[in-house]
Amino acid sequence: MIDPLAWIDDDAAVWSARGLSRVLRAHRDVLPGHFERGGKWFVNFGSNDYLGLAADPRVIEAARQAAERFGWGAGGSPLVGGWTEAHEELTAALARFAHNEAALLFPTGYAANLGAVSALVGRGDAVYADRLSHACLIDGARLSGATLRVFPHNNAPALAAILNRDRDRNRFRRALVVTEGVFSMDGDLAPLTELADVADQFGAMLLVDEAHGTGVFGPDGRGAASACGVSERVHVHVGTLSKALGSCGGFVTGSSRLVDWLLNHARTQIFSTALPAAAAAAATRALAIAQEEPWRRDRVHALSKRLRDALRAAGFDVGKSAGPIVPVILGAPESALAVAERLALSRLFVPAIRPPTVPAGTSRLRISLSAAHTDDDLDALISALHSAD
Ligand code: PMP
Repeated sequence: MIDPLAWIDDDAAVWSARGLSRVLRAHRDVLPGHFERGGKWFVNFGSNDYLGLAADPRVIEAARQAAERFGWGAGGSPLVGGWTEAHEELTAALARFAHNEAALLFPTGYAANLGAVSALVGRGDAVYADRLSHACLIDGARLSGATLRVFPHNNAPALAAILNRDRDRNRFRRALVVTEGVFSMDGDLAPLTELADVADQFGAMLLVDEAHGTGVFGPDGRGAASACGVSERVHVHVGTLSKALGSCGGFVTGSSRLVDWLLNHARTQIFSTALPAAAAAAATRALAIAQEEPWRRDRVHALSKRLRDALRAAGFDVGKSAGPIVPVILGAPESALAVAERLALSRLFVPAIRPPTVPAGTSRLRISLSAAHTDDDLDALISALHSAD
């Protein structure tokens, strides 16, 4: 008998020999900024819980109350019975928060990007994506059937040159420029003013993925576009509830006509079960806390600056990180894994990030800071990195 899955053994062996295999490891208990595994507590520098809200008792209580009221599972897609007042309250709060007309929820941030991109362009159109754009933006472009053009990281003039060439050749019907506001693996900011200028010049739609900007950057934590003062020039704001807002689910904010279009055409909106009402209620509470307690934002920025300054002074390459994501770029996957393992001996959890998540030759530690970290947590990390290098 032929084993139709035998190819997996061969391909997995190649993957493993390249130092790229991944395994799951479960936490047993979690506190803000920390987790317990195998009887030992670790400082968690691998979480995107930037404001320390994922395990906040008020957020948990909001989820509990909503689960009691609406049940745990939503039971259907938003348009077919899965929509509750908890979802409605969150969309209203997100639209208010973003100073946009309307908002739309998705089951995850991944689904929000996938659905939004593929609903806005199709065959005969083009998506212009920053080279370091998150997988879900690229997957959205592929799903849409549009031509995918990749521009060099954060290089607005290069984007303009590509758009110009395509326009001269009359290549495409619609153009959509996509970028992250804060890049997930480098922590650097996109040049959104320049990108908005280029999008304007060519009449292109501009989508900014604020997954790592929401709650952290800009006035009230409205995100990177807001920090650059170009919110109104961004046509499609994508965000996630799963990072600074400590919950799960994705969202888009923008004009009413945009949101109405996505409600009717985004496949991940139409053909997927709504996120649990409890997740929506938890996010609504977290969004309110994020605005009532700006010290959380200040704290995570202060910790990040201290870490970056210390690492740069010690000669580490932390790239152009500007917020709570601080990469330590080491190069080979094995180097990143070895340093991560040494840090784990000091009970410091820092994930090693390897291709295909980051380009080959740029394997790294990805440190993410949280308002829940203490000064002692940070000191321990800095001194362990000094001796782990
Ligand atoms: N966009 C970016 C830039 C991300 O980093 C992530 C999460 N890794 C997502 C989108 C997807 O968000 P979610 O985890 O909520 O699906």
